[in-house]
Amino acid sequence: MYQFSANHSLSTLVTHIGEDDNPHHTHVTPIYQTSTFNFPDVATGAGIVARTQPGYYYTRLGNPNHDQLARKIALLEGIDLIRLQPETNPDDLVAGQVFTSGMAAITSVLLSLLKAGDSVIAQEAVYSATFTFLKEIAPALGIQVVWISDTSQAGWETAFAAHPDARLAYAETPANPTMAVVDLKMVADIAHAHGAWLAVDNTFATPYCQRPLTLGADIVLHSTTKFLSGHGALTGGAVVSIHPDYLHKSLYTFVKVLGGIPSPFDSWLANLGLKTFELRMQRHCENTLQVARFLATHPAVDRVHYPGLEDDPGYQIASRQMHAFGGVLSFELKGGMDAGIRLMERVRLATLAVSLGNVDTLIEHPASMTHGPVPRSDRLKQGITDGLVRLSVGIENLADILADLDQGLM
Ligand code: PLP
Repeated sequence: MYQFSANHSLSTLVTHIGEDDNPHHTHVTPIYQTSTFNFPDVATGAGIVARTQPGYYYTRLGNPNHDQLARKIALLEGIDLIRLQPETNPDDLVAGQVFTSGMAAITSVLLSLLKAGDSVIAQEAVYSATFTFLKEIAPALGIQVVWISDTSQAGWETAFAAHPDARLAYAETPANPTMAVVDLKMVADIAHAHGAWLAVDNTFATPYCQRPLTLGADIVLHSTTKFLSGHGALTGGAVVSIHPDYLHKSLYTFVKVLGGIPSPFDSWLANLGLKTFELRMQRHCENTLQVARFLATHPAVDRVHYPGLEDDPGYQIASRQMHAFGGVLSFELKGGMDAGIRLMERVRLATLAVSLGNVDTLIEHPASMTHGPVPRSDRLKQGITDGLVRLSVGIENLADILADLDQGLM
């Protein structure tokens, strides 16, 4: 059997790991579409349930399709680079957990780490449902949320100095939809100096562009709905952590009781999408940089938010911590909201729809769509203006994407 090592490129690992790990040696992993698994005898059943011996027994508590996907996402996030000893077979390593949606992953992590009386220091510009959880639900549970609007070193240091017992720092970079960038190594260092962990939502960047664990983060969160699965065919989430005890004990308890796991079919589908992840991301990032440059010089455009543009406020940090700048950008038109609405209704190739990370280009209006539930005053504080337009750039031919935007901006 071919021996994998941490020296293999991630695309090679992600395409092969765990693929022939089934009794009939099917070339494509079967879908283990079952709620329960048979025990050969009582003693083995007891061992599997007690987790003293390997095996599956109930899909909410473990399924081969889930483990295969979690293992691959963990490898993409650099778990092999951090933890894998040369003698460890990556096939043995499950350093992640998959969920039915990104929000199931995020809320399971926050609920498993924080209890009444605890504090979390959180970046203010985060995905709208994460914001709603932290703004409305966490305080109702007795969890104190300290908001960071100034994401500079001084901003995080001031917050930790005022709340030295905070258990967690929470960041999302680049942030949805402002594309604001946070220096992850800096935040990890400050958090660790106070004994806190750093959790990072890496949905926008993806591990193709940025690996928070290698910058000091403790936990990485994903909506696999987006670039990781890549085709807009499912909703899913994932958690990867360098703390195996946390994953296999505290988080596992929340997986057990909240039950937010995906169907085996959705994990299988996400796994299929992952096989072309690197290729897709390369094209997404190349196209997005060219679209950002095109929009930045277009007379109808007021401002483009994309950390790959040299005059973007996030460019310096992004150049340090990102390998490429991602497949999403946002922009404001000179004609404000009316001009944005006109553009969204005039494009023909780009689809007017929420979500992002699909192979095809999607355009949307955060203030009335993805971030509609966030009160306007909070939205404006986060930089989500009424006229902001978000574009998830697909892998179509670049000339076709540019021509579509150009005709829409006329
Ligand atoms: N995190 C980010 C950055 C997102 O953009 C989203 C959804 O758009 C989520 C989390 C939530 O993911 P899901 O819709 O899969 O629950």
